[in-house]
Amino acid sequence: MSTKKRFLALLLSILLVLSLTSCEMARGETVDIPASQTGDTDFQKNMHQSTTYEIDAIAETDAGYYFELDGSYLYFMDKETKKVTIVCNKPECQHEDSTCNARIAGEVIWSAGDKLYYTCRNSVLENGQYVDYGLRVYRMDMDGTNREAIQKLQFVVRGDTVSWTPHPIQHRGIVYFPYSGVLYRMPLGGDIEKDAEAIWGEASEDTGMYINTSAPAYSLWADGDTVYFMVGLETKDGTRKDVLFAYDPEAKKVEQVWETPDKEEVGEWITTGVEVSQWYILNGSIYFYLSGGDFWKTDLTTGKTEKLADTHEKTKYGSAVFSDDYLCLMNDTPEEMDGMQYSIVGGMDYIGGDTLYIYKLDGSFVKEISLQPVYDSIDGLEHCMLVMCDGNEVYFVADASKWGQRVDGVAGKIWDQTLWCANIETGEVSQIFRMA
Ligand SMILES: [Zn+2]
Repeated sequence: MSTKKRFLALLLSILLVLSLTSCEMARGETVDIPASQTGDTDFQKNMHQSTTYEIDAIAETDAGYYFELDGSYLYFMDKETKKVTIVCNKPECQHEDSTCNARIAGEVIWSAGDKLYYTCRNSVLENGQYVDYGLRVYRMDMDGTNREAIQKLQFVVRGDTVSWTPHPIQHRGIVYFPYSGVLYRMPLGGDIEKDAEAIWGEASEDTGMYINTSAPAYSLWADGDTVYFMVGLETKDGTRKDVLFAYDPEAKKVEQVWETPDKEEVGEWITTGVEVSQWYILNGSIYFYLSGGDFWKTDLTTGKTEKLADTHEKTKYGSAVFSDDYLCLMNDTPEEMDGMQYSIVGGMDYIGGDTLYIYKLDGSFVKEISLQPVYDSIDGLEHCMLVMCDGNEVYFVADASKWGQRVDGVAGKIWDQTLWCANIETGEVSQIFRMA
């Protein structure tokens, strides 16, 4: 997820909380949620590709996917049946407040071994007073029970004035997280005072504290033995450019391995020179899609960059999600945002999207899938948003939400969102779940 989108996600999550009263929570169906699994502890690459704000955090287990809606409640989708349920089996629970097992208000979710984890910043009522604990990692069983906070991710609560939205990752038992622009590692469940180690960033000469004001946003990644982080850094001419670093956890060494290419090398795209539209690192290569341009790959060992596909021949602009097998491209188009959103993020949003173009990671074209059935079934639908690709399936959200007048005269969003799935083999498109 790009820096800009991340900031927008934070902004929208605030707006979502403010407008939740107008939103009817979807309950889902009755589904058995397996209480345990035998999953590994690797970073799940394709669960971190979502281009939507509503389903931003996803974790995969043997049995299905866990995702959060509206930044509040946790849902589970069975992989086989595609049935979705809220992750709360408390009898009589109305799923309306913090007593609900599914209410996590999380920022990032992952599964590791037989537990589910998420990060959340919250205040807890203790002896009649709210205590602010800042950002912490929570652990729970796969059915949403036995939830507990297991570690802090902030040295000082509200002490980080640099990071926009820190999105930690977990890879092989280690949590990687930014604080005040500095990247740290800490064992899962560790004590931040004793166990956190700075990976990248220097102590300030003034205070002795580690702070790096030039790195407000990290995108973290892991591929095999290597952990990667993409940081938007200032260049000599004062502009910003995404730079990729590789961290070797054995040797504890950081090395710059890539930076956003120049247009002389790959042509122009929407955010030419600053950041790529979507990227994915697999087996030591970075694959990247440029909206307004094409599909490229750079070997991070040799530095050799090659074009994999002339995607602009299918669609000039688009958004994309990757998996270990595919680049899934949707032909939505950029549009300048209105009012407040535009002035804050200064960027573009996307509208439309009625066709998927599927490529293999070697650049070969696989299939075109029409999303016309989705538009035919929903009145006033203007936009589809990619969530993720796993196996032979591409998941996306159809968003027909509208801004409307609420009773109190305040403009609120009237939510109308459904989750869909397109099958790459059959080309079939089917609705899975009405989200709101
Ligand atoms: Zn509940």
